[in-house]
Amino acid sequence: MTTPQDIIRRDVLAMTSYPVADASGFVKLDAMENPFALPEALAAKLGEHLAAVALNRYPAPRPEALIAKIKRTMNIPAECDVLLGNGSDEIISIISTACAKPGAKILAPVPGFVMYQVSAKLANVEFVGVPLKTDFTLDVDAMLAAIAEHQPAVVWLAYPNNPTGTLFDDAEMERIIAAATKSLVVIDEAYQPFAQNSWMPRAAAFDNVVVMRTVSKLGLAGIRLGYLAGLPAWLNEFDKVRPPYNVNVLTQAAADFLLDHVDVLDAQAAQLRDERTKLAAAVAQLPGAEVFPSAGNFLLVRVPDAAATFETLLTARVLIKNVSKMHPLLANCVRLTVGSPDENAQLLAALKLILH
Ligand SMILES: *Cc1c(COP(=O)(O)O)cnc(C)c1O
Repeated sequence: MTTPQDIIRRDVLAMTSYPVADASGFVKLDAMENPFALPEALAAKLGEHLAAVALNRYPAPRPEALIAKIKRTMNIPAECDVLLGNGSDEIISIISTACAKPGAKILAPVPGFVMYQVSAKLANVEFVGVPLKTDFTLDVDAMLAAIAEHQPAVVWLAYPNNPTGTLFDDAEMERIIAAATKSLVVIDEAYQPFAQNSWMPRAAAFDNVVVMRTVSKLGLAGIRLGYLAGLPAWLNEFDKVRPPYNVNVLTQAAADFLLDHVDVLDAQAAQLRDERTKLAAAVAQLPGAEVFPSAGNFLLVRVPDAAATFETLLTARVLIKNVSKMHPLLANCVRLTVGSPDENAQLLAALKLILH
């Protein structure tokens, strides 16, 4: 008798699935979702639009009209090509797989987005994590030394970084790009709606840089759509690794419709930026709380006891993320997603139960 233990890769057997908490009944502030729904009239029109979709047909593998609309709406340089992913998570997986030559390595600052490491591992590529400084800015000297030593195939730079919220310094990133002559540097702009700074205008300006984005944090996490912008020489290769029908017809149709109403989502992002400012100021007032500067729709906060803070909030029906065990630099840190004014008030009230 064969068992999964006989068949499945040893490293996969040793893994645990990506943890997603059951959030029913909670104020959900753990996953950087936009708290706002679409306006009712717009949702109704979207429904009509989706009803017209031919569900019996496979999706267009390269939906030119949608790609053109993304390029226009997101100010992607004309010289760039665009590759669509089932969320940017899939694009991370595609890049990792495509670059997985024997002995290849993938490098990123840590603490950073976990999927860089997970995807590298699944592609059988060694992951090199380079610690940030204690204030979560880039340790450029350490990055340059690690790039020289490991000659990574891929360098991930999240701009801003998750879970720290740090918007890395442009000049420091330029030094890394200049040093990484044997690497592809992927700039991950998942939080661009909250950062308002972007490398997108320069997505075709370097031979070794591509820019990745997603509509998830903008308010469309449920439709799963990420995109990669860069020179065709790179994207043509990644396209060979992309599953042919990876972005389904409903996602394509929803994106096509909603990109015509992106002002609604942009206004929600603007409101969340205001809420971030208010929440950061209020949390910073709480005894024992250290709030780090964030360019995302979340705050990294160091508290006296992250586990107790997480538990207290859970009892108050507020779900946040305890990131304190992710990396030594994150000791006693929790990550709070910025929610609606009402959710943020509940979050603050719950935090006051333990920070007083
Ligand atoms: C959330 C997140 C992503 C993944 O986004 P999806 O498009 O929803 O898969 C990518 N990068 C970073 C840094 C993120 O925080």
